[in-house]
Amino acid sequence: MTLQVQKSWLDSLQEAVWLVDAKSLCIVQSNEAAARLLGLSCDEMRGMPVLRLAVTPEDQAFWGGTTEEIARGIDSYTHVLRGDGAWVAVARRVAPLQALDGRGYLVLSMLDRTVQENTERELEALLAELRATLDSAAEGILVCDLQGRIRAFNRRMAQIWDIPERLLVERDDQAVYAHMAAQVTDKKAYKRRLAELAKQPEAQACDILHLRHGVVVERLVVPQLQRGELSGWVYSYRDITQQQADRQRIQELAYTDALTGLPNYRQFAQRVDVAIQEASEKAPCFAIVFLDLDRFKIVNDSLGHSFGDRVLQLVAERIASCLRQTDMLCRLGGDEFLLYLHEADAAVAEGVVRRILESMLRPCELDGMGFSVMCSMGIALYPQDGATLDELIKQADTAMYRVKDRGRGNYSFYQPQMNAHLLSRMKLEHAMRQALAAQRFAVHYQPQVSLATGGITGAEALLRWTDPELGTVSPGLFIPLAEESGFIIVLGAWVMEQAVREAAKWMHAGHPLVISVNVSTLEFRQPDFVERVTRLLAVHQLPPALLEIELTESIMLQDALEMEERLRELAGLGVSLAIDDFGTGYSNLAYLKKLPIHKLKIDQSFIRGLPDDEGDLAIVRAIVGMGQALHIEVVAEGVETTAQRAALQRLHCGHFQGFLCTPALPATEFWQKLARPGAAMQDALADPLC
Ligand code: C2E
Ligand code: MG
Ligand code: MG
Repeated sequence: MTLQVQKSWLDSLQEAVWLVDAKSLCIVQSNEAAARLLGLSCDEMRGMPVLRLAVTPEDQAFWGGTTEEIARGIDSYTHVLRGDGAWVAVARRVAPLQALDGRGYLVLSMLDRTVQENTERELEALLAELRATLDSAAEGILVCDLQGRIRAFNRRMAQIWDIPERLLVERDDQAVYAHMAAQVTDKKAYKRRLAELAKQPEAQACDILHLRHGVVVERLVVPQLQRGELSGWVYSYRDITQQQADRQRIQELAYTDALTGLPNYRQFAQRVDVAIQEASEKAPCFAIVFLDLDRFKIVNDSLGHSFGDRVLQLVAERIASCLRQTDMLCRLGGDEFLLYLHEADAAVAEGVVRRILESMLRPCELDGMGFSVMCSMGIALYPQDGATLDELIKQADTAMYRVKDRGRGNYSFYQPQMNAHLLSRMKLEHAMRQALAAQRFAVHYQPQVSLATGGITGAEALLRWTDPELGTVSPGLFIPLAEESGFIIVLGAWVMEQAVREAAKWMHAGHPLVISVNVSTLEFRQPDFVERVTRLLAVHQLPPALLEIELTESIMLQDALEMEERLRELAGLGVSLAIDDFGTGYSNLAYLKKLPIHKLKIDQSFIRGLPDDEGDLAIVRAIVGMGQALHIEVVAEGVETTAQRAALQRLHCGHFQGFLCTPALPATEFWQKLARPGAAMQDALADPLC
């Protein structure tokens, strides 16, 4: 075979071919396909060292090898240099050829891979894009074929299922599936569902899976089709833990009170509805209790709402701890609670409310501050007091107001005649505001009597309201309402003015007497309070020593420094300060030492049990002792019997106040008593003074 023959034979080939001299490694012949591929004519290529065009490192290494190594040939993808300097991708094979002339040749054949390489590159780019898209997806994705072999998954899927890196690297599909099954909380149900899905391979499915550590995942299975044929499935996993939690929270909020976590009215009403329905079959009864905290407004006003909120949480826990599993406590709003007492008749209900009262007596502590919160409760029984929840609540509310009216801190059962006095709070508030303008308020005076001499040593100014429609309205009812609505500021200022004017009149008429005026927390907190008192004393020319201000212990819960300063300013003026209802509120007594307190008024609840109740005796004795040690006067409130008075004398209490002497009297009547010759010295100790 001559070289000429070879050329025509070579030209007939589709592949580009070089015939290379085995010794010189120069091209001795090439075909037209090679000329087209390399952009050089066959003549130009002839004699050219093969390494001029085959210059990749691999080619250089190959052609630089020994004759034997070259003779072994090579078959791989490479690039060759075109005549214009551009690279062209080829599948290149080198094989030895023993020619007839006895010389050694090498046949280098090349197949143009440009199109293929471009396609491959595009495919690679597409794949990379796809992977990046998968990895950036918020959902976890797993693709598997009909045999369940994992064909693709993204990083999010590994995250959601907490698949360890090791499993991902090993690509052990069965281990991955086993790991996934181990993650779900209900493995049986998970496997059962997968088996079900396998039975309907072409159906889409959506399930909620609960994984360990509280993760909730939504799984969507979509069949994958290739040319209309099922080829596998795409599983997508969405972490819906937060979404589920939000939904649950919304549900909770719809049925619970956000502050205390207690059921709200909606849930409560459902519970009672069920009880009413069941009752018609089995005829057991139940009780509804309306519970309202006493003077809670003061806590809120003096210590702020966030402190008030914590008090409400604490109180809610206390009340709840007194209930049975079958009962329900709900917060109606503010400081009002409703109780459902399951299968409770009057005796059971009474037992529960007594337990609540007892537990409320224990002092509370928040931020190192001790105080006590009491409550008033009204009880309505089903079915005798009402057929619907609305009716029962109304009756329990009426009963609760009766408790408030009678001095708070207690409970009462609904009695039908209560409705006669029933007045909505709104109506009462409206009437109260009108009463001041219509001069329906009056200030009455109750004497304070020395237990040693029987002489009148002072008088407490007590507000009275007589309404043409409502009759006499008790301060126990309207004062809390005035405090809640803020009207107490106007009302209190009016009382103070009346009292100061009256005291000045008595003084100028020759009977100087200390007048005690009750001041609510809200009034005391007014920035101009001291200024107002000073002005009033000056206008009526009353010596400050003849004015005493009665504050409850709750004032000690105030913003301590500001209140302390105000108390000192008043004391500096010469006005005395009395602590009213002593023993029922604040349990930290350090303030007695620190503040300019002149008088303690023992709450009437401790006087009631005298002389027999050991507990009351001990408390009164302790307060009297404390007063003596701290040089603070002590007044016993609510003394009604001579036995109580005698007990107080034995305990060396300084003064008393109570019906035993007289209830509060209108100013003119009080004046008549005061002005009666020798009244101050009249013997209240042998017989009632007044
Ligand atoms: P308080 O300041 O502790 O007044 C004593 C209460 O006990 C008065 O009730 C008085 O009438 C009553 N009382 C006096 N002696 C006896 C007795 O022997 N037995 C019984 N059971 N009760 C007796 P009242 O007048 O109904 O006032 C109730 C509360 O209303 C007062 O308690 C006081 O906290 C408040 N209050 C009355 N007037 C005013 C006022 O002008 N301003 C303010 N902020 N509060 C007032
Ligand atoms: Mg008082
Ligand atoms: Mg009192």
